[in-house]
Amino acid sequence: MILPKEQLFRFMRHIIMPEISGPGQKKLLESRGYITSHSIKNISLLLYYLAASGIGQLYVALEKPEDFSGLKANLLDLNPDLKIEFFNDFPTFPAEEKIDFAILADNFPELKGLEEVPKIITFTAPWYGYIRTTKEAGSLKIPLPEKENDSTQNSPGTIFSQCFAGVLAAIEAIKLCLNLGRHLEIPLYYNLFDMEFKTGEDVSVLESIVSEDPVKGKDLSNSRVLIVGSGGLGSPAAIALVLAGIKNLGLVDSDIVEISNLNRQILHSTSRIGMPKVESAEVFLKKINPEINIEKYLIRFTKENALEIIKDYDVIMDGVDNLPTRYLLNDACVLAGKPLAEAGVLRFEGIAMTILPGKGPCYRCVFPKMPPAGNIPSCSEAGVLGPVPGVMGILEAAEVVKLLTGCGRLLSGRLLIFDALELNFMTPEIKKNDECPVCGKDPSLKNLSGEYDFVCDIVENSNRKE
Ligand SMILES: [Zn+2]
Repeated sequence: MILPKEQLFRFMRHIIMPEISGPGQKKLLESRGYITSHSIKNISLLLYYLAASGIGQLYVALEKPEDFSGLKANLLDLNPDLKIEFFNDFPTFPAEEKIDFAILADNFPELKGLEEVPKIITFTAPWYGYIRTTKEAGSLKIPLPEKENDSTQNSPGTIFSQCFAGVLAAIEAIKLCLNLGRHLEIPLYYNLFDMEFKTGEDVSVLESIVSEDPVKGKDLSNSRVLIVGSGGLGSPAAIALVLAGIKNLGLVDSDIVEISNLNRQILHSTSRIGMPKVESAEVFLKKINPEINIEKYLIRFTKENALEIIKDYDVIMDGVDNLPTRYLLNDACVLAGKPLAEAGVLRFEGIAMTILPGKGPCYRCVFPKMPPAGNIPSCSEAGVLGPVPGVMGILEAAEVVKLLTGCGRLLSGRLLIFDALELNFMTPEIKKNDECPVCGKDPSLKNLSGEYDFVCDIVENSNRKE
């Protein structure tokens, strides 16, 4: 056997994908990464995803002394096999210490002994950022703007941008270790405020980067957000939303934490296996902010309770991975007039859209009918690369805050398609469909009766909340 039994279970969702499989996971477990940053906060989500994915050893160099004990304990609880060391300077590595990748997060020190190591470079500003992977040896000449003051340090846009860059960097690191897909040798620029993505050497995009965050100072403390599903999508979204200042959060999930969740569901941990996910999530989120109010729904989201649960929330977020519940959530939100941030993932891909009932297209406008149950691959059958739901969950969280504050351009009328192997984002336009069974001119679905039962029962056995 290539891996011990516990690691087989832990990384099952990776191993069942032929691109990774047992030997690939073994390679990840033997890999070493070096990360530099000006602060821990900037890279915490990155470290969670590297730990969850099974990267064997991490060296983390910080610009100034910081207390990393809490983060380190959380990372080791997520994956007890991780070896991690923190430094308050930039150590020189002996040549025999083989490092597989380096990640330079918002700082670019001279890395002695790492000239030949492939580097992932990120730069973040509120809502905006830049990421590039370079295998070039030698010095890094990167034309990036100077960071201004610290006034936007904890602003929602800064949080989302740093989380987003971190998860993308984790994907690039895994791809480097496995020699998988295409690397971002041409930089990617992202703009989460307007949900625009651009690759190219043209740095003029960066000129539009502002150091101010238009969302900073908007009061989010009374907003109520419901996340349906506390798994792969719900984990990063809940963390980012709490960091961004959301204080009232509802979490719906009937599952308990299992070891096979832990390659991606970073809200949970090894010591909390067997605990209901909503409770495990609360433990984690209250460490970030003890003041938050979490309403826990330890139940399945069904057509009987859907409208009752969503009615008290301002914005709803889809964190489920089974299609019947996704259709149910769409229909419930359209019928109740609740804005919905929606996303789904499979293997190396994700899609996302934001649904404004009555104003823009809904999920059924694009995908009118649920495919037959037997044709639906779920994450548990087809696998998913750990940080892929991380990317999609952060995008959803950013949409939630934009919905709440009325800022930026939403993914309404656009379908975001993410391909992690190519590290590519597309946002083709989608239109409201007059024939839509729930929001068209003559809708056939006027309530939630009937049609979710049959498919739900079949899929439920082999499907878990994502
Ligand atoms: Zn529709």
